[in-house]
Amino acid sequence: MCRKFTGMRIEENYSLRSLNTFGIEANCRYFIEINSLEDLKQALTWHAEHPQALLIVGGGSNLLFTKNHEGLCLKMNIQGIEQIEETEEYVHIRAGAGVIWHELVQYCVQKGYHGMENLSLIPGTVGAAPMQNIGAYGVELKEVFHSLKAINRQSLELHDFSKEDCDFGYRHSIFKTTHKDQYIIYSVDFLLSKKARINTSYGAIQDTLKAMGITEPSSADVSRAVIQIRQSKLPDPKITGNAGSFFKNPTIKLSEFERLQKQFPTVPSYPVSAEEIKVPAGWLIEQCGWKGKRIGDAGVHPLQALVLVNYGKASGQDIWNLAMSIQKSVQEKFGIRIQPEVNIV
Ligand SMILES: Cc1cc2nc3c(=O)[nH]c(=O)nc-3n(C[C@H](O)[C@H](O)[C@H](O)COP(=O)(O)OP(=O)(O)OC[C@H]3O[C@@H](n4cnc5c(N)ncnc54)[C@H](O)[C@@H]3O)c2cc1C
Repeated sequence: MCRKFTGMRIEENYSLRSLNTFGIEANCRYFIEINSLEDLKQALTWHAEHPQALLIVGGGSNLLFTKNHEGLCLKMNIQGIEQIEETEEYVHIRAGAGVIWHELVQYCVQKGYHGMENLSLIPGTVGAAPMQNIGAYGVELKEVFHSLKAINRQSLELHDFSKEDCDFGYRHSIFKTTHKDQYIIYSVDFLLSKKARINTSYGAIQDTLKAMGITEPSSADVSRAVIQIRQSKLPDPKITGNAGSFFKNPTIKLSEFERLQKQFPTVPSYPVSAEEIKVPAGWLIEQCGWKGKRIGDAGVHPLQALVLVNYGKASGQDIWNLAMSIQKSVQEKFGIRIQPEVNIV
């Protein structure tokens, strides 16, 4: 069923199955597609008049629906990439929240704007990227981020947030903590270098470039290498439902790591600071014997233990139950509590 509010289309009991990469069957009570700032203001006005839970969806590639959303869902579809400023060294661009992230990366690679190539092929939209400061292959969003515009859900005012305001960290921004559920990201600005600044610090990129016979890679080469690696390692959500890494890599104190290393001498690690160490959650999960396991249609990917998959008809609750069993066994074996990276609805 569909109703109208000042010309805006409001769908009722709308299926979100095609709007989440896990492919979970879940409905929302009301659904509005947002194509402009005006749509966003009208939708929030309607929401203020009909108070209920509010969910923002971009590409649904970092969401797990464990139940129906008994409220309003706004699908961010605001398009547009524009150039704001250009100097000899930098170009400043702005992209709408609904722009597909990988399309923006490809736009930049083709134009010769450097900095985003390592973030090729991450699913989802531009508006969601700052939420968890997306990162891959040695680069995080914050390295190319300039600022963003977000609308306050209560006042409907548009606010500017600088990089410092966002307080980016590993899979972290203020929009997940102090400013959670207060703002909707409308557009994001990026500062990209016109001079190549290739980052091949990640071993897999070096190996792939070598196999491609490339010794002096361009940004486009790095992008192609990253795409190749990702396609060989990660399941394609169009074929097997998933949301990428289900858990964050835990950061633990150095003293705790030393204790762990005594018991498990092969534990891999990455220093975060003089006091803290990051441990790959995928390794912890694999050591607990979960890699490739399947319970009904919910499973742990056979090549990447950090990725939980829906083999077809798993419910969100099935995936969640599996995640909780994994969390429990990692806690019991290693004394480390791994936390979901995926947003649970
Ligand atoms: C195969 C695969 C690989 C992946 N690899 C990576 C990776 O390498 N690195 C990485 O960091 N992530 C990765 N992810 C996770 C995911 O792609 C990113 O988190 C992405 O930024 C999510 O974008 P989305 O538009 O799909 O967000 P959604 O899943 O729709 O939403 C994610 C969160 O952001 C909120 N949100 C969405 N849009 C807005 C907005 N405009 N304003 C306010 N809130 C908003 C939602 O409410 C939700 O809480 C991967 C996912 C998959 C499926």
